Amino acid sequence: MGNARVARDYYGILGVASDAEPDEIKRAYRRLARELHPDVNSDPSAQERFAEVTAEIDDALIRMQLTLEECLTGVTRDLAVDTAVLCSECTGSGCAPGTKPAICDICGGRGEVQTVQRSFLGQVVTSRPCPTCRGLGEVIPDPCRQCGGDGRVRSRRNVGVRIPAGVADGMRVRLAGQGEVGAGGGPAGDLYVEVEEIPHEVFTRDGSDLHCTVSLPMTAAALGTTLALPTLDGVEELTVEAGTQTGTVRTLRGKGMPRLRSTGRVDGRGDLMVHVEVVVPTKLDKEQTELLRRLAVLRGEEQPDLGAGGRNGHGLFSRLRDTLGGR
Ligand SMILES: [Zn+2]
Ligand SMILES: [Zn+2]
Repeated sequence: MGNARVARDYYGILGVASDAEPDEIKRAYRRLARELHPDVNSDPSAQERFAEVTAEIDDALIRMQLTLEECLTGVTRDLAVDTAVLCSECTGSGCAPGTKPAICDICGGRGEVQTVQRSFLGQVVTSRPCPTCRGLGEVIPDPCRQCGGDGRVRSRRNVGVRIPAGVADGMRVRLAGQGEVGAGGGPAGDLYVEVEEIPHEVFTRDGSDLHCTVSLPMTAAALGTTLALPTLDGVEELTVEAGTQTGTVRTLRGKGMPRLRSTGRVDGRGDLMVHVEVVVPTKLDKEQTELLRRLAVLRGEEQPDLGAGGRNGHGLFSRLRDTLGGR
């Protein structure tokens, strides 16, 4: 510290490495926000850091709503970003034209102040950032009128954002150098765009796999059929074999979402799982009822036998019946 041009270091504030993953940044942010919250920490320097930590995250994170189709292909969008940019009047120095910063009287330019406390261990010397110059070591005697001495002004600008194929709800895309300009005109931080996926009407997503449910009339499930299934890649022909049961899952390989690796590369695509639900008619007219009755007679199913085994029974009911009968 001790330099008025020091950047507001996003990673430094959070105490993470500059190549930290978004998850790590999120954890560090939550931990700090909890530790420094004014409700639990009454130390004035903690309150200052709390404001710094929270301000840095609200300002540099933008949420973007995407449809499943947009997550599939990736998308480029112009975002109106409201951030702090370099003040044109003072070019970031914060000083009125023709004036200069002065060394801070309170800390003598060191940027930190020391307090000495007596304890049973002897004298304890603690340092904290100078409250007068906020650790910068310099003060501005005659602040710039446009930015009030901050070196930055709020500005709305358009940023072209490229969201890669395969993103999912909650993922963050980092745009290096597109965030806030640092205090005193320091280098800009990064901008994060967080994806908010709009739920799809037909497909539900599980990582890179998609799931959907098709309802099949009882007759089609029994006789077999071919369905024209709309997928994200267009209409696919899906052959349903005769005798298909409720709960059957058909997998269409490679018809899911792109597998986006942490390196940012796409490694193939997931699958589309089609869940079949066989629908039994609830309303039958006289002729249909008559036909089904005849079918039941032909199949010997007028009085279904639960002990017969069958696909789901496995004869369990017959064993249960035998046990009961033996008493
Ligand atoms: Zn200015
Ligand atoms: Zn100072």
